[in-house]
Amino acid sequence: MSGVQQLQAAPRTGWHVAEVVETRRETPSAARITLDVDGWPGNLAGQHLDVRLTAPDGYTATRSYSIASSGDGERVVLAVDRLPDGEVSPFLVDELRAGDRLEVHGPLGAFFVWRPPADGGTGRPVQLIAGGSGVVPLVAIARAHAEAGDATPFRLLYSVRTPDDVFFADELETAARGPAPFAVEFVYTRRAPAGTDAPVGRITRERLAAGVIGADAAPVVYVCGSTGFVERVAGWLIELGHHQTAIRTERYGGT
Ligand SMILES: Cc1cc2nc3c(=O)[nH]c(=O)nc-3n(C[C@H](O)[C@H](O)[C@H](O)COP(=O)(O)OP(=O)(O)OC[C@H]3O[C@@H](n4cnc5c(N)ncnc54)[C@H](O)[C@@H]3O)c2cc1C
Repeated sequence: MSGVQQLQAAPRTGWHVAEVVETRRETPSAARITLDVDGWPGNLAGQHLDVRLTAPDGYTATRSYSIASSGDGERVVLAVDRLPDGEVSPFLVDELRAGDRLEVHGPLGAFFVWRPPADGGTGRPVQLIAGGSGVVPLVAIARAHAEAGDATPFRLLYSVRTPDDVFFADELETAARGPAPFAVEFVYTRRAPAGTDAPVGRITRERLAAGVIGADAAPVVYVCGSTGFVERVAGWLIELGHHQTAIRTERYGGT
């Protein structure tokens, strides 16, 4: 996708016009994109939206992106990782600028969401498991939990290439320091922080078993990342005794 038309016309039915407020580097391969979405109804933590780009020749491309923010208001935060051979993500990461306008559709997703107990949530412990950019909706969930001052135990197991590739590092640290119980553990697949003896390598069944809230505590488990990551982890969770109905998954594609 080499360009995005400046949208002048009214949006198509069910779509909103979003103006880019800010785009900034999140990791060496990803950008954080803040949008003002005209008429956005607000969203729950964990939901996603569809972004549609229209090239000057009328060609359109649509992709889904999780929302890192939640609550009322028209401001929406996304974080997009660049797939080197991708059609849309290199444009969003490297070329999108403040003031550009996109079309977005949403909020989408009713199952991969978290609500505080005071707002109809289950009050069960929560285990979040992310692979790479799959952390985005889990950041929204962790922040909603922190903002609610909710006492439900939360944990995040986050598989990431290197310490430089951690999305929303400051926000995760702030949530972990707050009064709401929240613990974060990283699995580094390529390089661990200097001076640590943290093991390096892909997540294994043993690492998962050691790093997650046990099935006996009946947590709700949210797993998000590439399709292969999610399927591997969900399979192991079932082997470890977690009930299928307690596992919520979001697959980003790929293998
Ligand atoms: C519900 C949902 C939420 C999503 N949220 C996010 C998000 O918050 N941040 C984000 O960066 N992405 C997210 N994605 C992925 C996003 O929709 C696009 O698939 C991604 O940006 C690649 O688009 P592209 O046009 O650059 O690549 P394409 O041109 O569509 O694909 C290029 C190649 O990469 C492969 N591929 C596609 N997706 C992946 C993947 N995730 N991992 C590995 N290989 C892949 C394709 O099979 C193809 O071979 C989400 C996907 C879904 C379904």
